[in-house]
Formats: sequence, C-alpha cells, structure tokens
Amino acid sequence: MDSKEIIEKYNSAVIGSYGRLDLALESGSGAQGCNADGKKYIDFGSGIGTNSLGYADSEWADAVSEQAHKAQHVSNYYYNSTAAEFAVKLTKMTSTDKIFFGNSGAEANECAIKIARKRSFDKYGDQNRTTIITLVNSFHGRTITTLSATGQDHFHNYFFPFTPGFKYVEANNIQALRQAVDDTVCAIMFEFIQGEGGVNVLEQAFVDEIFSLAAKHDLATISDEVQTGVGRTAKLLAAEYFGVKPDIVTLAKGLGGGLPIGVCLTRGEYASVLTPGTHGSTFGGNPVVCAGGLVVLQRLSDPEFMGELEKKAAYFRRSLEALPRVKSVSGLGLMLGVELDGMAASDVLQKALDKGLLVLTAKTKLRCLPPLTITYEQIDAGMAILREVLEND
Ligand SMILES: *Cc1c(COP(=O)(O)O)cnc(C)c1O
Repeated sequence: MDSKEIIEKYNSAVIGSYGRLDLALESGSGAQGCNADGKKYIDFGSGIGTNSLGYADSEWADAVSEQAHKAQHVSNYYYNSTAAEFAVKLTKMTSTDKIFFGNSGAEANECAIKIARKRSFDKYGDQNRTTIITLVNSFHGRTITTLSATGQDHFHNYFFPFTPGFKYVEANNIQALRQAVDDTVCAIMFEFIQGEGGVNVLEQAFVDEIFSLAAKHDLATISDEVQTGVGRTAKLLAAEYFGVKPDIVTLAKGLGGGLPIGVCLTRGEYASVLTPGTHGSTFGGNPVVCAGGLVVLQRLSDPEFMGELEKKAAYFRRSLEALPRVKSVSGLGLMLGVELDGMAASDVLQKALDKGLLVLTAKTKLRCLPPLTITYEQIDAGMAILREVLEND
C-alpha cells in the first residue's frame, strides 16, 4: 500500500476523533522515520515524547521480543519477574516507595486522584474533603475525571456530567493558590512544565508555595510527570530541578520506549492507601511493556548517557534560539516550546512536514520533543529544514 491507500483505508474504518496529517509512518531508526513511499523524516516529536529511544532501538526491540517469546501477559492474580525488576528499579531511581501499573497517562492520573481522595477519607472520615486543586492551562488526560482535572474550559464540553471536585488556579499565582485552599481540599496536582498548555515552566516560588501549603494543610502533592518525566528534561524527573519530592508522581509517555504504560509512584503513607480490591488494571504490569521499559531505565541510569543528553539538550536549545523569527524558547532539556514572530506554528509544522521534518505544536508555540537518542547530525539536519521554512516565508 502506498501512503494514499493507507490513509484512505484507515479513514474508512477508524473514528475521526483526531485532526491528522497526511503521513503514514511505517518504519524508522533512531530519530529518523520513514513513510510508506520511502520518504525519510527527521523526527523532533517522537510520538509526543513516547519513542524516547527513537524508532526501533535494537537493544529495546531485542528485550521486547525476547519477553514476547517467554510470556506476553501475566494476570495481576499472579507475579512476574520482569515486572518485579522494573518496579524495583524505577522506585529506586525515583526514590519513591511503591508503584501502581496502568497503561496510559490518564490512567496513571486516575490512580493518583483515587489515592489522594481515599487517603483523605481514610484519615479524616470526611466525604467533603475531596477537592483537588489543579492549574489553569493544565492537561491531565481524556477520561471524564482527568478531563475534569484539566484546567481548560474547552475540554469541559459535550460529555456532561463531569466528575466534580476540581478547582483551578492560575499557574504561578501564589495569592490565588493560597485563597483556593479551604477545608474541602485534599490535594494539589500540577505539571512542572505544562506541556499541552504551551511548554510553560512553573516558577520556583510557586512550586515552593504548593509544598508549603501542602505541609501546612496536610494535602497530597501530585506531580503529573507524564510528559516531563523519564529523561525528557535531561533529568530523570523534572522535580529534580525544583528540589521537591511530591507524594505522588505519575509517569507514562516515554517510559515504555513506545509501548503503552502509565504508572503512579507513591511515597510514604501514600504507598499503602490502595488495598486489595480498591483498584486494578488488566494489562497493568504487562511483562513485554516492562521489558521495553527496563531498557529505557537502564539507559537513563547510565551517567554517560545522561551527561551526553544534557549537552545535546543545550545544543538543541541554542540551535533553536539561533533560528530566524524565534522570539523565545521555553522549557527544559529536550522539552522545548518556541514562540515565533509573524508565522503561525501550525503553518511551520505543515511546511516542515513537506520538507521532511516532524515537529509538534502546543497552543501558539512550536514544540520539540525529540527522542533522547537524537544525534547532533540529526539535530543539524532538522534545524536546517526549520531555518528554510522560517526564512522563506
Ligand atoms: C499526554 C499527557 C497525559 C495523558 O496521557 P495519555 O497517555 O494520553 O492518557 C496526561 N498528562 C500529561 C501532562 C500529558 O502530557
């Protein structure tokens, strides 16, 4: 099938819930993808940060297929060594105590919300101490409850009624945050860098206020690191930049190297809130996914890889800043937003695609989330395309 046939076939049978680009990706290697007609693309998006090791990393692919030949799924009625190894390694690396396994970011956040509310109920016996403060412009997922948690009005449509118990505070507005805390609040949930919201980094003082209010009022702190986590910011967790340890951390996107996983990591008393029968997920802890995830974690625990990642991220940022029409670059590590002068990000995305470069947008910004394994040559090749697009318009 050529690209055109694939696109027609797909659209004939798949619900149209996405605005898609006319591109059928069929294979790839590292930060380079290939369409059905053999055209190559430099990938600055990595499937929204999901292909953290790029396409078809050979060590990752070997681990995944080796596990598939042993056992592809083990019910949560039983145990499995690959999932055990992954859980121990990830909790050690993140200095958290225990993990819950799910399959997506939304599912990880659902778990975080359940833990925060149950812990509040267990401790206070109060059915009204349930409110979770989230931030305006946040994004937490597409289930009814995580849409509710998402602080963007346009997501609160069509699917009424939404889950009650969320309250939205403007990011970096310390006064508004203080005012929002009352005796119905049990948790504060936030992204250190709002990804879908436009790659906005929280200010240190605001993060400090979250943690001081949480300590004072016994609130759970929940960091949604679904996009910022797993090396994306050139550190394992974005929390490391802020010097804080949230009670609950959610991870997904890059964690499986491209396979579906979403986890909820917990610290201290939050690790023992869920008891048998209170939560579950059929595919949670899938050994094939965990085998892929272990390769990601092994890579991120190599100091040489992390040192190189930091240097590459700085180079990537400098390269963006040197492009024409670039007003500012926001974000950390390889999670970068670009504010443009006189050209719409969606236009740049389409023109770059035509020239063989995949990029993302977030609100009015261009967004780059390249694979953590991208090479300097690939960065240069992608930047050359961006320069052409930004200069010739
Ligand atoms: C992508 C994303 C989610 C949702 O993840 P899914 O895997 O699509 O459910 C939640 N939170 C943040 C910060 C995200 O970037």
